[in-house]
Amino acid sequence: MPTSTIPKKETILKMAGLYIILMGVQGAGKGVQAAFIRDHYGIPHVSTGDLFRAMKTRTDPLAQQIQEIMKSGKLVSDEITNEVVRERLEQPDAANGVILDGYPRTPAQAEWLEQYLAGRGEKLTTVLLLDLDLYQAFRRAFGRITSASGESYNIYSNADGIEWQFVEDPNKQYPPRLEATLKATGEKLIRRPDDASAHAIIQRIDTYLETTQPLIEYFEKKGLVRRVDASKDIEAVSREIERVIDSVR
Ligand code: AMP
Repeated sequence: MPTSTIPKKETILKMAGLYIILMGVQGAGKGVQAAFIRDHYGIPHVSTGDLFRAMKTRTDPLAQQIQEIMKSGKLVSDEITNEVVRERLEQPDAANGVILDGYPRTPAQAEWLEQYLAGRGEKLTTVLLLDLDLYQAFRRAFGRITSASGESYNIYSNADGIEWQFVEDPNKQYPPRLEATLKATGEKLIRRPDDASAHAIIQRIDTYLETTQPLIEYFEKKGLVRRVDASKDIEAVSREIERVIDSVR
């Protein structure tokens, strides 16, 4: 065969889009790793939660219905969710693939996505599962504390430069409160209210397990799941993600 008819490596890579599903418990570093994949591979990060939140300002009945469902903490119907995803995947910036975050959340959504991609002559590249021990996931949320300028610390793993203590509620009505300050300036650090409640954190972890377990099983049967150890530092996790994506694409 004359060399001119052999497609160049770049052409082959361009032909198949990168369709990556990113999963991981809160604290596994999904946000920061999604940003890494977006920048490194030039595909947009598509979070269905963000897409639904962006509809807040719309006044049409569908947008209003979605806001009501989100407020109740329930899931938006598969039909509506799939439609919103379809619209997003048809935007020009998604022509070479996307990183999906928070989607699919049900096996029915997963099936729809696979069929939709097949209709475009595409398929899922991989399901990246950022694996983190649940006790670590808990400590990453419960121990997190930030400065006004957005610097993040953690009483368990990143406490150099801060002073911290748990202060008992004098009436013992509430759990002890975490007080932390920056050693250098005395600035009081802030804790996100939803990180202050062990109960709420455990509930979020529980919900994650309940909803993702069936999906992980679904994709595992298809041999699509790749686990990445998310207990390592951000750089190391990014390198591992890059290695996995390059090996499956
Ligand atoms: P998130 O930011 O991913 O936690 O999503 C916020 C809310 O948006 C969820 O509590 C659901 O109400 C809705 N939502 C996001 N993604 C989906 C999905 N894939 N299927 C159904 N509802 C979703």
